[in-house]
Amino acid sequence: MSSTVSPAAPAKPIDREALRRKYREERDKRLRADGNAQYLQMAGHFARYLDDPYTPVAPREPRTDHVTFAFVGGGFAGLVTAARLVEAGVRDVRIVEKGGDFGGTWYWNRYPGAQCDTASMVYMPLLEETGHRPTEKYAHAPEILAHCRRIGAHFGLYDNALFHTEVEDLSWDEARACWLVRTNRGDAFTAQFIGLGTGPLHVPKLPGIPGIDSFTGHAFHTSRWDYAYTGGDPFGAPLDRLADKRVGIIGTGATAVQCVPHLARSARALYVFQRTPSSVDVRANAPIDPAWFSGMATPGWQQRWLENFTANQAGGTATEDLVQDGWTDLSRRIRQRILTLPRDQRTRDNMLAAFEDADHEKMEEIRSRVDAIVEDPATAQKLKAWYRQLCKRPCFHDSYLQAFNLPGTHLVDTDGRGVERITPAGVVVAGVEYPLDCLIYASGFEVGTEYRRRAGFDLIGRNGLRLSQHWKDGMRTKHGIHVHGFPNAFFVQPTQGANLISNVPHNLTESGRTIATMVRHALDHAFREIEVTQKAEEEWVKLLLTSVGRMTGGADCTPGYYNNEGQDAGLAARLAVGYPAGASAYFKYIDEWRRSGRFEGLTFR
Ligand code: NDP
Repeated sequence: MSSTVSPAAPAKPIDREALRRKYREERDKRLRADGNAQYLQMAGHFARYLDDPYTPVAPREPRTDHVTFAFVGGGFAGLVTAARLVEAGVRDVRIVEKGGDFGGTWYWNRYPGAQCDTASMVYMPLLEETGHRPTEKYAHAPEILAHCRRIGAHFGLYDNALFHTEVEDLSWDEARACWLVRTNRGDAFTAQFIGLGTGPLHVPKLPGIPGIDSFTGHAFHTSRWDYAYTGGDPFGAPLDRLADKRVGIIGTGATAVQCVPHLARSARALYVFQRTPSSVDVRANAPIDPAWFSGMATPGWQQRWLENFTANQAGGTATEDLVQDGWTDLSRRIRQRILTLPRDQRTRDNMLAAFEDADHEKMEEIRSRVDAIVEDPATAQKLKAWYRQLCKRPCFHDSYLQAFNLPGTHLVDTDGRGVERITPAGVVVAGVEYPLDCLIYASGFEVGTEYRRRAGFDLIGRNGLRLSQHWKDGMRTKHGIHVHGFPNAFFVQPTQGANLISNVPHNLTESGRTIATMVRHALDHAFREIEVTQKAEEEWVKLLLTSVGRMTGGADCTPGYYNNEGQDAGLAARLAVGYPAGASAYFKYIDEWRRSGRFEGLTFR
C-alpha cells in the first residue's frame, strides 16, 4: 500500500449521470437557508478567542505624523507592495497590522502541521530578492513566517510599522489630497497613498451550533492555537499535554486536514466531527536539494517559475511543468482531454464536458485512495468526497487519511447535517454525546460577508462616498486595484485581476509592482492624485461580466465558501471573477499596461 502515489485510474468506465446524481444528493443534504448567517462572529462571549496568544501588546504613543504610503495589513499583500515601493525608492511606507508582527495568515495560523499547499518555489514571494532557498517543496508554517519577517527586515519595513493596531477609520481629505488614518491605538496620521491588503480569509468564524457558549472544557480556534494547553510547538513537537485528554475537532477543511494527524498522534482520544469530507490527494512533500537549487537559481528564476506555474495551471500553453503538483496535474489532464477533441468540435459545451470527465476521473482516483489507505471500510466510505474537485478547496496530505487507522481516532460523520448540539460536557451528534476535555474549532474564516465587516472599517472617499455604498451590488474596480471616487487608494488582492486562486501571492506581487510603478510616476511628476475614471471602471466591469466564471461544478457544487454557501449571490458572484482571458493573459496584459507608462483609464492630477 502506497500513501504517496495516486492509484491508477479505475478500470471501469465512469457513469457520468450516476455521479452527477450522487453529487446533487450530497449537495442537497447540505444546502441550508441561512447560508453564511449560520456562522457566529467572535464577539461578546467569544471575543477572547481572538486574543493574540503569541506576542504581548507593547505600549506606545499614538502617531499623528504624515507618511507617503500607509498599508493596511502586514501579510503578503502589504509586504510585497511595500517591498516593491522601497525598490522604487519610496521608503516612507508604514504598514499597520493587527497582529504582533508581519505575516498575516502565517502570523495567526501556527497550528501543528500548517504548511503551504502551493509549492514553496512559487508560493513564497520575493525569494530571489531576499536570497532565501525554501527547505521543502511545501514549506511548513514557521519557515513561511520567518520569511515574512525576512522580507520585513530586508526592505527596512519594521521601523515604521505599527503592530497590534487596527484601522478604524479611513477617510479621504479632499483639501489636503491625502487619507486620514485613525486606529484603535489613538493614531490619527495622514498618508498620501493607501494600500488595502486585509485578505479574504482573516476573520475567524465559529459554527452557529446550539449550546456553543455552554461548553465548560477548554476551547480555541485553530488560528489561535493554544500550545500552552496542548504542549508541543509549531515545528511539530508532540502535543504532549494532550496525552490524557479527549479532544474534539469541528471541521474537516484544509486546516483540519493538516492538524488532525498531529492531534491523532498525541491525544488520548480524538473525535473528528465531519459535515463534508475534503478531497485529499497525494502531497509528496520532499526537501529541496541545495545543490539542485543553486544550479537552477539563475537570475530571474522565480519569475520563470511563476509564469510556468500559471501557464500550466490557469489557461496558458506551457509544454514544460516545473512545479509538478496536484494543481498542475488537474489542469494538464483537463487540457489533454480538450486536445483530444477534433479542432472543429472544440465548442464550449464539448470543452466543459471534457473538463467534467477529467474531474470525474480525478475524483474517482481520490476516492480510491481513501479505500487504499483507510483500513475500516465504513470509515473509508464516510471520508469520500462527493463533489467536483474545485467545488471546495482541494487538499493534499500524506498522513491525514492514515490518522483514521489509529485506535484513538474516531470519525464522527454527521451525514452533511453538522454537529447537532454542544453541551457543557461535549458534542452531540445524532443524539449521542461525546464527552470532551478540549474542543478545537477548525471552522474557517469569513469570506462571503461584507467588506466593511471583514476589514473593520468602511472606506470614505471623495464627497463622503462610502465603499459599502459603491459596492452594494458587488465589487467594482479596474484591475481589482482602483475604485472610482477613492483616489490614491489601492486594493491588493486577486479578484477582478488575475484571480489566480491556486497561487494567491503571485497576484499580490504583480499588484505590488503595478502600484509601485504608478506611485513612482506620480511622485516624479509631482502629481497629488491618482484615480481611475468612472468610464474605465465601468468598462472593466463590463469586460469582467463576459467571463464564464470559475470552472468548478456550478450549481451542483456542495456548499462552502467557494460558492457563497450554495446561495445565489447574484451580480456580486458574477463580479467575483478574474480577467476573462485567464491569469496568464492578465499578467501579460498588466505588464504591458504599466510598462507603457500611459496608465490608460487613470487620471493623474
Ligand atoms: P474551511 O472553511 O475550509 O472549513 C471549515 C470546516 O468547518 C468545514 O469542514 C465545515 O464543513 C465545518 N463546519 C462548519 N460548520 C459546521 C458544523 N455546524 N458542524 C460540523 N462542521 C462544520 O476552513 P479551513 O480553516 O479549513 O480553511 C479555510 C481556507 O484557508 C482554506 O480553504 C484555504 O483556502 C486556506 N488554508 C490554506 C492552507 C494552505 O494553503 N496550506 C491550509 C489551511 C487553510 P462544510 O465543509 O460542510 O461546510
